[in-house]
Amino acid sequence: MTRPTRFFDEEAGGETGAAVTTGRTLTSAARCPNCGEEPFAQLFEIWSPREFMLDTCCEYMLEVANEFLAEDPKAAAKWLNEEGLGEICGQRVGLADAFGRGARRVIEDGCGSLVIDWHLDLTPISQAAAKEFIRTHHRHANKPPAGWRFGAGVMNGSDLVAVVMVGRPVARMLDDGATVEVNRLCTRPDIPQGLVWNACSQLYAWSAKEARRRGYRRCVTYTLEEERGTSLKAAGWAVEATSGGGSWNRPSRRRGNEGPQGRKLRWAAPGMGTRTSPDGRQRLLWAESPSPGNGT
Ligand SMILES: [Zn+2]
Repeated sequence: MTRPTRFFDEEAGGETGAAVTTGRTLTSAARCPNCGEEPFAQLFEIWSPREFMLDTCCEYMLEVANEFLAEDPKAAAKWLNEEGLGEICGQRVGLADAFGRGARRVIEDGCGSLVIDWHLDLTPISQAAAKEFIRTHHRHANKPPAGWRFGAGVMNGSDLVAVVMVGRPVARMLDDGATVEVNRLCTRPDIPQGLVWNACSQLYAWSAKEARRRGYRRCVTYTLEEERGTSLKAAGWAVEATSGGGSWNRPSRRRGNEGPQGRKLRWAAPGMGTRTSPDGRQRLLWAESPSPGNGT
């Protein structure tokens, strides 16, 4: 028996006879090489938020379909979105038709199952809900910040997978009324990390846009030096200053050493003002440094 390497191979049905189907239809003339019936595979059921089960002509076809879905996450999503639900009134129907929202990819959930990684959606979030999320999920600074101005969440299907809290700058020197700070950005650590892919850069980009929309002139955030800042860079943010590190605590404004210490980078959102120290050495004054990193 020849096993097609791709589920929907345009060339299938040719020499091998192992055609599952063509990319356009599941009712090609080719027979399933295993059961001899019309080759058939489509979504049978989806459970919220992301599990699914396929219906196939036979066990062999189920294996073939699973291989196809596992092999190319984007091609798998395209199939689910455009034709995964089979044929209705002569039209191929997929997730995008049925739910108005499609899959980004199909990913492995870490336990051997394939699950749907939906396209991310930004969602409004209350301060209370954002705080609760951070209390539950933040890696190293789970005390939510005060000084809320605005925030948002990111949904992957019906799961809230990330939140951002934007508030007053923690450093008093920056707190000029025209500046806001991304105080916390937090993703779910307890789900397959593929599901939060790109969520941070979307939230950083949104925060900058929302700050501009609300009339703020600057939007900043901090990371620990050892954090790579990949999602900030992806959102167009740039480092404007580095701190020398130092304790979070000082007598005039006691806070307790909640956040990690060490050198920090201050980032500024694109298209807005930046500020460096007067001597141009791009070092933060000590008074500006103590915001905990945002854990991204
Ligand atoms: Zn079959």
